[in-house]
Amino acid sequence: MGSGTPVLTPGGSRPPTGKAESAVQTLATGNVFAALGTSPRGLASSEVAARRTQFGPNELPRAGRRGLWRDLATQFTDLFAVVLLVASAITFLAYWLRDPRDVGTLQLAVAILGVVLLNAAIGFAQEYSAERTAESLQAMVPHTCRVLRDGQRQELPAHDLVPGDIVVLEAGDAVSADCRLIEAHEVSVNNAALTGESDAVARTGEPVAASPVLEARNCVFMGTDVVAGSAKAVVFATGAATEFGRIFRLAAAAPRQKTPLQRQVASMARRVAGTALAIGAALFAVRLPTGQPFVETFVFALGVMVALVPEGLPATLSVSLAIGVRRMARRHALVKQLLAVEALGSTTVVCTDKTGTLTQAEMTVVQLWAGGAQHAVSGVGYAPAGEVADPRPVRELLRAAALCSNARLIPPADREGWRVLGDTTEGALLVAAAKAGLDLTDEDAAEPRVAEYPFDSVRKLMSTVHRDSDGRGYLVYVKGAPQEVLARCTAVDWRGEQQQLTDELRGAVTVANDELASQGLRVLAVAWRPVTDGRAVRDEAESGLIFLGLAGMLDPPRPDVSEAVDACRRAGIRIVMVTGDHPLTAEAVARRVGIVRHPGPTVVTGSRLDTIDDHALDGLLAQSTELLLCRVSPEHKMRVVTALQRRDEVVAVTGDGANDAPALKHADIGVAMGASGTDVAREAAVMVLLDDSFASIVAAVRLGRSVYQNIRKFLIYLFSHNIAELVPILAATFAGFPLVPITAVQILAIDLGSDVLPALALGAEPPEPDVMDRPPRSRRERLFSTAVMGRILFLGGIQALGVTAVFFWHIHASGIPYSEFTEDDTAYREAITMVQAGIVVSQFFNALAVRTERQSLFRIGLLSNPWLLAAGCFGTALMAAISYAPPLQALFNTAPLDAADWAVLAAFGVLLLAAEETRKWWVRRHRPHGPKGEEQ
Ligand code: ATP
Repeated sequence: MGSGTPVLTPGGSRPPTGKAESAVQTLATGNVFAALGTSPRGLASSEVAARRTQFGPNELPRAGRRGLWRDLATQFTDLFAVVLLVASAITFLAYWLRDPRDVGTLQLAVAILGVVLLNAAIGFAQEYSAERTAESLQAMVPHTCRVLRDGQRQELPAHDLVPGDIVVLEAGDAVSADCRLIEAHEVSVNNAALTGESDAVARTGEPVAASPVLEARNCVFMGTDVVAGSAKAVVFATGAATEFGRIFRLAAAAPRQKTPLQRQVASMARRVAGTALAIGAALFAVRLPTGQPFVETFVFALGVMVALVPEGLPATLSVSLAIGVRRMARRHALVKQLLAVEALGSTTVVCTDKTGTLTQAEMTVVQLWAGGAQHAVSGVGYAPAGEVADPRPVRELLRAAALCSNARLIPPADREGWRVLGDTTEGALLVAAAKAGLDLTDEDAAEPRVAEYPFDSVRKLMSTVHRDSDGRGYLVYVKGAPQEVLARCTAVDWRGEQQQLTDELRGAVTVANDELASQGLRVLAVAWRPVTDGRAVRDEAESGLIFLGLAGMLDPPRPDVSEAVDACRRAGIRIVMVTGDHPLTAEAVARRVGIVRHPGPTVVTGSRLDTIDDHALDGLLAQSTELLLCRVSPEHKMRVVTALQRRDEVVAVTGDGANDAPALKHADIGVAMGASGTDVAREAAVMVLLDDSFASIVAAVRLGRSVYQNIRKFLIYLFSHNIAELVPILAATFAGFPLVPITAVQILAIDLGSDVLPALALGAEPPEPDVMDRPPRSRRERLFSTAVMGRILFLGGIQALGVTAVFFWHIHASGIPYSEFTEDDTAYREAITMVQAGIVVSQFFNALAVRTERQSLFRIGLLSNPWLLAAGCFGTALMAAISYAPPLQALFNTAPLDAADWAVLAAFGVLLLAAEETRKWWVRRHRPHGPKGEEQ
């Protein structure tokens, strides 16, 4: 680092106040460079390396994770855990009080404790891995910034910034370090992250009086956002030395929010636990008067209650949501909140941008228009290889357009071809200028830029002010949407001479524009004017312009979009195109990708939206099936999203610019562009598309739907077997049988042994083939719909009937009267083994049955989820061990089953599958499309 750099101190040790700090904002622009040991060309690479060693990376210390022990401890404060712990304590107490002591009671107490520990371990592991997933997903969207080093503009990861770096800021950027502005064009920033004040505040590049640095109007700070304008700034503090670093607390991570789905499951589980408690109490009340010992009856009732609590459910739910998140990431959709996984599945409308989402954002200027003549441009992509037909009349048009651009062409490197750094629309103009033989570096040097009025999507134009080549006056170059530019023109350069822009010539420009637009081209108009003052106010600079011509650029549709549009149509999802572009361009592209298929789609422009009230807008949205919103600004987008939500739609909306943030936040699913979007949009969205493609949104919707379906699958699977566990116990109680048909320890072995893996495998089922062939789920539909409850009762009922029959058949076959049965009778032990094995085997078939909702299982293939088969085999093997291994026999009071027993159970499982296949067949036949929003 150069000497005499009073404002630089190594990371973390900058004095909070003092001369050094106030120095940076009071310095004249020229002195800022010297003070920070840098130059207008930026730092040299060797200096960067030295500073990197001295100041360290531009990172904040990691947010404090809640201690692992605390995380683990919270697992035991969960309602289930508390209930179970109390139950375990009572059972231990019962064991001590009873004389003689009963090993069975002790086993039960230990088993319940085991359940709590196992559940806590699973829950903890899940949360830990979910946190790691979130971290790794975040790392997939790197935070970058544009930096000037060695006189070259480069894009770098934000953590590479060092003090003295010169950064280039544009609207939508998140500021990556504390910087002093040296050049500011209509810049305003949002300091909410630092000050909590969310209004945009204007910034300047001029020196200001000494004041606390946070109040300095020429400084911007890490963690804040640029909301408008563009600027150049010198970094003066990085990492922990920034203002943000100072207030950044190692605070506990934000509490994890539960999604509505998780809340629904939790409330259902609570209700089931309540019911279990009631059933336990009822059984106690029924059995006590029959002369059973008090403690024994109490322990029995407690065991039943514990068995009915759906222990593994919350963990299974988190796993299936996490699997959904990972699958979406593989399809280029990063979901920042679990909530989005759920909402995605019920999306009814997607409002999508055009450029980059439906199209490739690979702009190529293919037509130029000036002085009433068209000039074709050859060559595609960003390589400046191609020609402009008869370039002379359009040279001035291209020169002005290139000078009024901030993008830069990057020559091929590392197997990559020519690239654009910055806006692709501008990149295409630079390429066309090069094709016409213009040397852009020379042009820049001849007419240096002195001011800029940046592009924004409300004004739809941008202008720059340059000193003219003889240094006597200034020139303004303007480019933007033809309508906007034309409205500010009073003259035209027409075949070499300047003419007044008559209505006739205006008409000629409009016709030419429409012709280019209806070919699906994005059209920009270019104009200029001389001014005497380089600091001319914007309104003056952008009025009385001289029209130069039009540039039409091609942006081919993404190849996979048509298919995705088709999928949306089948899935009952409406697509609304929202674009800042010309209606004809929009319609041509919409037709190409299949969004518009009929003549006369409803095309609504931003200016029309301004004239209609909410009522009329609602009517418009209700009537039109093919809707294109053109020439709209982000405020219009927000209004349409709100109107759609009023109509009860679940809206996904895409956005990339800083001012898209309100619509992204307001929508049910805000989707930001990962590749081309601004930092602000990415922060506001709940989903980020790594590849910006519309097809990825559709892929995510499909996965969202399948996550929801899978959750239903394992809910049906888990809850139906509870019926099979409960019914034999109730039957035995009411039939006056003195012992239980299945013990609490056996039930726990099912719930936590043989049932967990199949439930997880169901949560990982691939999407059903027809998942996108049905209308979206209704927002109001509950997870436990009547259809789901019906299936639980249907499948659970069959299972219950089977195992109860098996039990009593065994008991009766022994010929022993009910009252003489003891726990040690072989017949009893065989009977309870049959009941447990019956549930395990039928659950295996049940898992297969719930894999589809209405399609035949054989259509998706019996073997298509190998995890489920493996999980089923594991469960059966565990059951076999419980039946045959002597130590487990002792623990569970079981007896060995013979081949005929297994055959009976398997036949019974096949029966269950056949019954379910018949039900599905009936549903397909009688309700081919299914009632809207209701699964069957
Ligand atoms: P799309 O839906 O195609 O993504 P958009 O909504 O992103 O479009 P904007 O980028 O806001 O549209 O652009 C709106 C209009 O402004 C464009 O049609 C074009 O005429 C003009 N425009 C776009 N980029 C620039 C630029 N860099 N300089 C000047 N004008 C531009």
